[in-house]
Amino acid sequence: MSEFDVIVVGGGHAGTEAACASARLGARTALVTYRADKIGEMSCNPAIGGLGKGHLVRVIDALDGVMARVADQAGIQYRLLNRSKGPAVQGPRSQADRKLYREAMQREISTTANLSVIEDGVDDLIVEGGRVAGVVCASGRRVTAGAVVLTTGTFLRGLIHRGEERIPAGRVGEAPSNELSKRLLALDLPLGRLKTGTPARLDGRTIAWDQLEMQDADEDPVPFSFLTDRVTVPQIACGITWTNEKTHQVIADNLTKSAVYSGAIEGRGPRYCPSIEDKVHKFADRDRHQVFLEPEGLDDHTVYPNGISSSLPADVQDAFIRTIPGLENVTIIQPGYAIEYDYVDPRALTRTLEVKALPGLYLAGQINGTTGYEEAAAQGLIAGLNAANQTIRPDHDSLIFDRAEAYIGVMIDDLITRGVTEPYRMFTSRAEYRLHLRADNADQRLTSRGRDFGCVKDERWSVFEAKADAINSAKSLLQELTLTPNEAKAIGIDMKLDGRRRSAFEILSYAGVEIGTLAAYWPQISDIDPKILDQVSIEARYANYLDRQAADIAALRKDEGRNLPVDIDYNEVGSLSNEIREKLNRIRPETIAQAQRIEGMTPSAILAVISHLNKRERPGETGRLVEGS
Ligand code: FAD
Repeated sequence: MSEFDVIVVGGGHAGTEAACASARLGARTALVTYRADKIGEMSCNPAIGGLGKGHLVRVIDALDGVMARVADQAGIQYRLLNRSKGPAVQGPRSQADRKLYREAMQREISTTANLSVIEDGVDDLIVEGGRVAGVVCASGRRVTAGAVVLTTGTFLRGLIHRGEERIPAGRVGEAPSNELSKRLLALDLPLGRLKTGTPARLDGRTIAWDQLEMQDADEDPVPFSFLTDRVTVPQIACGITWTNEKTHQVIADNLTKSAVYSGAIEGRGPRYCPSIEDKVHKFADRDRHQVFLEPEGLDDHTVYPNGISSSLPADVQDAFIRTIPGLENVTIIQPGYAIEYDYVDPRALTRTLEVKALPGLYLAGQINGTTGYEEAAAQGLIAGLNAANQTIRPDHDSLIFDRAEAYIGVMIDDLITRGVTEPYRMFTSRAEYRLHLRADNADQRLTSRGRDFGCVKDERWSVFEAKADAINSAKSLLQELTLTPNEAKAIGIDMKLDGRRRSAFEILSYAGVEIGTLAAYWPQISDIDPKILDQVSIEARYANYLDRQAADIAALRKDEGRNLPVDIDYNEVGSLSNEIREKLNRIRPETIAQAQRIEGMTPSAILAVISHLNKRERPGETGRLVEGS
């Protein structure tokens, strides 16, 4: 018998979530990682959430994962991004105290039942009968298990670049994982190279804060976890400054010394998170770039200058940083760097993140070509749950989400069908059904799925049930309260004078109608818990769009099996890019499902093809539109 059911390799963001998820499902789980004191370490920016990323954190939380609860014990500057825009694109974000985050995650790991930590490196995989059956550690220890989840982050053949310096490392101060990388290559896994970068860390005591614009935390911090009532960690402000012509001149003069520009790096970096060299070179018309000065902790002087990641030599970094207002006399604690590492082409994976060619081996996080803590954690959750499921109850269905169910589904579908050409980061724009997949309703959409699967524990389930009851009662009340158009007019709400009574729920979908107006007319509305009322108001406001989106989702599911006629002319399909049109005309997929798997295919292109098919088959009917933002 194996020593464990599941082994998770790596104690970063994917690994901690995978290990907790596997243990939560009841699997005997081992977390093997180089250093126990680094479990939960944030390698780069001390922040959780953001647009798209905050949605992922809520999904993880709805399935009883750990990231949101841990982040709520460490958040020192909460801000709900896009507050003024619609709820579909609002993203919870918080700067995190790096130490508090690590400590809270380590507490979580040490108090999780069925979970053991082994402090060691993994150099090799045990493969028996075509399946992965365990790992061999650097110490020589062999650990056996029914499944292994690799979450090695940037460590596989990691190489730090700073100017002409080359330092083999997984991240600064930590050795890379070279043996494991060789083993993956020998097992024929498709490996590639990617890169990412981080800025210098500054000593906050040497920053002229009084010369800077400051940005405060939200007055009413919105926590990440559905289980957190209220944020109790003290909130801080961060500083805002800008680069200028002098900064850009220093960088331009030294561009050839940048590891990225000298040709020393073969891996592609994240387009959406460019280095300052990239910004200066590629956007030469911009005369300044914003820099957020984010303290890394409540009792830590280290400051993370968000926006100036760099692989220039240390002396050049020192020179350009000192041209920035407020940083003229700054002391650099640690210069920035770029890091290049191996990743596995995620098209080699199934929807459960298992390697197709090597059953029992699961991959999650940066190893799959993504970037970011939240993307990593979300994959860790799915890989950990499915690895445990496969091992301890092989006849049970896997836990898979599609694009219409959760941002995790969008991300995994993108990764395994399209692969990556640069580190993949989550954005709300990647999801077709944004209005449905909101951050505020992740629990309502997913917690019962998680409970059925067995990964939602009693505490969360009872909180969820109480909230669901409260939402249903509030919704019933708003549907029972009705008024006539004339009564509505009397309280300043305009509607068609057709004599039809409308419910408060329906009236809330009218432009400009505020819940406060209705509460003034029906005082019983004020008895509803404000958080519940907010949630029901959003549902009411978007009910028509949501119904339409539900119909789109049902149609998409039905459409996946539809045949594409051999004589279809894609030149006649509107809203397709030339590239996709050319691919469809050349490849001529036989079904919609096949078309979806074409590299570079986008969900909106598929919808355009479906709409064209509908028009061909049922001329005269119009297709539906997908909500945009
Ligand atoms: P990690 O958090 O890196 O965790 C990997 C874990 O695996 C570590 O605990 C390590 O010790 C362990 N490990 C590795 N190999 C082995 C082995 N063989 N045996 C045992 N243990 C092993 N993200 C952004 O969103 N934006 C950024 O700008 C950004 N910049 C970055 C810059 C740098 C320099 C680095 C290093 C990372 C950056 N990231 C950035 C990425 C972010 O840190 C990762 O996306 C995230 O940490 C990935 O989580 P993970 O769990 O996949 O890997």
